Amino acid sequence: MSSSFIVAKFGGTSLADFDAMFRCAQIIHDDNNVRVVAVSASAGVTNHLVALSHKDISDAVRQSHIDGVLAIQNNILAKLTLDADLATLFSQTLADFEQCAALTSTSEQHNDELLSFGERLSSCLFTQVLRDLGIKAERFDVRSVLKTDAHFGKATPNVAQTRAAALEHLVPLLNETVVVTQGFIGSDQHGRTTTLGRGGSDYSAALLAEAIDACSVHIWTDVVGIFSTDPRLCQKAKPIPKLSFDEAAEMATFGAKVLHPATILPASRAGISVFVGSSRAPEQGGTWIEKEKSQHPGIRAVTQRKNQILLTLKSPEMLLASGFLARVFTILSEYNISVDLVTTSEISVALTLDNAPNASRPELDQACLQRLSEFCHVTVENNLTLVALVGSEIQLRQHEMNLMQVLADFNIRMICHGASKHNLCFLVEQSESDAVVQSIHRRLLEVC
Ligand code: ADP
Ligand code: ASP
Ligand code: MG
Repeated sequence: MSSSFIVAKFGGTSLADFDAMFRCAQIIHDDNNVRVVAVSASAGVTNHLVALSHKDISDAVRQSHIDGVLAIQNNILAKLTLDADLATLFSQTLADFEQCAALTSTSEQHNDELLSFGERLSSCLFTQVLRDLGIKAERFDVRSVLKTDAHFGKATPNVAQTRAAALEHLVPLLNETVVVTQGFIGSDQHGRTTTLGRGGSDYSAALLAEAIDACSVHIWTDVVGIFSTDPRLCQKAKPIPKLSFDEAAEMATFGAKVLHPATILPASRAGISVFVGSSRAPEQGGTWIEKEKSQHPGIRAVTQRKNQILLTLKSPEMLLASGFLARVFTILSEYNISVDLVTTSEISVALTLDNAPNASRPELDQACLQRLSEFCHVTVENNLTLVALVGSEIQLRQHEMNLMQVLADFNIRMICHGASKHNLCFLVEQSESDAVVQSIHRRLLEVC
């Protein structure tokens, strides 16, 4: 049974400086049901940490990134007087950071340790901001409850262990105090620090909500909800007041950066509603994502995901042969490569793969290509973008004319529709994808 607890998550721009943190603290002050707060690193910090994790950086570059992290923290610290417990914790965390950052990266494990400092530092500072507003708040190390496997850089949470640990260590605190903890990070069975992948704090918040039986998750960011497309790209993009879990999950999966792609999983498993709003303008409301089926059949949004690879495999053997696709997919899965879109013809199959900088498989393994080449002709195309129309009960025939007019202006590499009524996807050249999204938005989503 769900409690009245709310988990609130604040993203990097919401915690960029003291004033931004203060606005977030007021949101918590105004809602007594917010008992767990999951924070991102202050804006810019994780990028410095990622740069520090690269092996081949000069001492000067290393120092500039360390200084970058320290400058962001010190800028906030200058407006605060830390209580003794937080002062001790903060200076110890800073010392550990400087020691970790001074070492040349040797392993993925080391990199995750390094990347964890952004959230560990911001959670200390934000706890003090809450206390200064008269809110009883404690900083809590999420690594004692958010348990994951040891896949450093993109760890998979262990839901059962996380729940058991949260019930033991986290829930007993919640009637007493607001708990400020870290998004993005967790720990494996040996207690080693792991991370959930870039943007993973949204996912952390949903996982924690599931683990403590919260009634909702509030994702506070820099936009007043989920829009019909990225508002940075289309001025006329509109916030969507309500989305179903399916619609939101598809949007996140196909590139709406406002939510980490996995965020909806725990929420829909546990039936927990998700709110997305702006920490700069909480009074403007936002988007509610809920279990109910969508009341608005049709296209609701257009998204894009850049850095896609198109793999085309051609083989006369496929003609009238069984087992070709099974062979292809077996090899791809041996190399841990996940496939998004698939189309087939009589003698060929085309597949798209995600090559985003943070994807678990950053590039197609040469050994894998070699194995595929043994029984088919392989072509690899890079620099493509997957554009997705997202909604529910999407029926091509309703939009055919408009869509075809838009697509006629561009070089479309592949179209997929049918496996789900929640999306219609196609691949375009990356250099054209912003224009494709703008054009689709204008013709299909700005009409009424
Ligand atoms: P945070 O740091 O709070 O996690 P992010 O930068 O990860 O924030 O996500 C917010 C950004 O997502 C917005 O500034 C916006 O540019 C981008 N975005 C992409 N697609 C959408 C969309 N459909 N609706 C709203 N924002 C979107
Ligand atoms: N700080 C991490 C990142 O920048 C996680 C997050 O913000 O969600 O990716
Ligand atoms: Mg984010």
